[in-house]
Amino acid sequence: MDTIHIPVRVLPQRESPVYAFDPDRKQYYSTKILRFIVNSHGDDALRTIGITGVDLFIPILTYVFGEAQLDGKAAIVSGARLRQEYYGLKPDRRLYVERLFKEVMHELGHTFGLTHCELDNCVMRLSNTVAGVDKKTADFCRNHQDQLDKKIKEVERAYGK
Ligand SMILES: [Zn+2]
Ligand SMILES: [Zn+2]
Repeated sequence: MDTIHIPVRVLPQRESPVYAFDPDRKQYYSTKILRFIVNSHGDDALRTIGITGVDLFIPILTYVFGEAQLDGKAAIVSGARLRQEYYGLKPDRRLYVERLFKEVMHELGHTFGLTHCELDNCVMRLSNTVAGVDKKTADFCRNHQDQLDKKIKEVERAYGK
């Protein structure tokens, strides 16, 4: 696996994003959380990604696994619907971590300017069901990996790293 070679800093856990809760839908408005993450983005960080256990939505969709600023600073990913338990199945930690990893890579890809891919062997393939997440690999296709490497170099240069 090649993917992304940049140092990672884990930030302290935040309180539950009550400000984004929609009482009618009983879900959390992903764009509001994304805005919060953008505002807490450190100047020395290339990208900031939030991981939450709450279920996310945007108004036009029933749910989203995540949301990112295309070619921007931040992204958010939800693990809520990536757990087997959500579908009444037996918990599977390994599968959960694998799905979460793919979705984090996918949203990070968006923050580095990558758009969706038609290929099954590319993590940038759009997946709006867990079956779709399981079908694709955690890797970027050749094309997207090249694009990503180029973009990361460019961003690092801009940050003087
Ligand atoms: Zn996407
Ligand atoms: Zn691709």
